[in-house]
Amino acid sequence: MPDIGAVETSSRTGSAWPVTPDRQALLDAIADEIRAHGGCGFEVCEQATHMVPGEGSASAAVVIVGEAPGASEDAQGRPFVGRAGKVLDELLAEAGLAREDVFITNVLKARPPKNRDPRADEVAHHLAWLQAQLEVIRPRLLVPLGRHALKRFAPRAAIGEVHGRVIEADGRTLFPMYHPAAAMHNQRLLPTLIQDARALREVLRS
Ligand code: URA
Repeated sequence: MPDIGAVETSSRTGSAWPVTPDRQALLDAIADEIRAHGGCGFEVCEQATHMVPGEGSASAAVVIVGEAPGASEDAQGRPFVGRAGKVLDELLAEAGLAREDVFITNVLKARPPKNRDPRADEVAHHLAWLQAQLEVIRPRLLVPLGRHALKRFAPRAAIGEVHGRVIEADGRTLFPMYHPAAAMHNQRLLPTLIQDARALREVLRS
């Protein structure tokens, strides 16, 4: 794990924001470590074509966290570039955001074989990377997509109850949303997702 202790806070202002201009370099170092990872014996890591660290700006106010890469992401080494990614792009547009404005990543940095659900030991194996990314970015808002991502940040919250609004959990400000893939399986969810994306736009304006 890169030494993110290099992110200092300002002793003059007491600000929690890093004074180093090199947050992007730190984020890139985490990504390099993830891409080079292997030899651990975990099926997800060993079978991945590409590890998928995530991408976007180190100064993003919003971090989007999905569940795990799928086949397209595994092939390209980039998050949300398949069908779910197309839905996500539309939702970002509804929220008034471009991909360049946000940081997009996943709880798991490698594709579970046959797109099965991530296992708890795999999540634990990868979790320090997500924590390091969030420590560097320190976003204003974290958007967990779907129940698996939500579980990382608010274990007792149910996505059906908290989607589309701001909740506080463990010192973080969350704006949970249904996973875009859920709208691909259940078309009736799409209007809810769009409504939630518009609510996100309002939250970001306030
Ligand atoms: N689904 C996810 O949760 N993440 C991706 O990157 C792609 C699909």
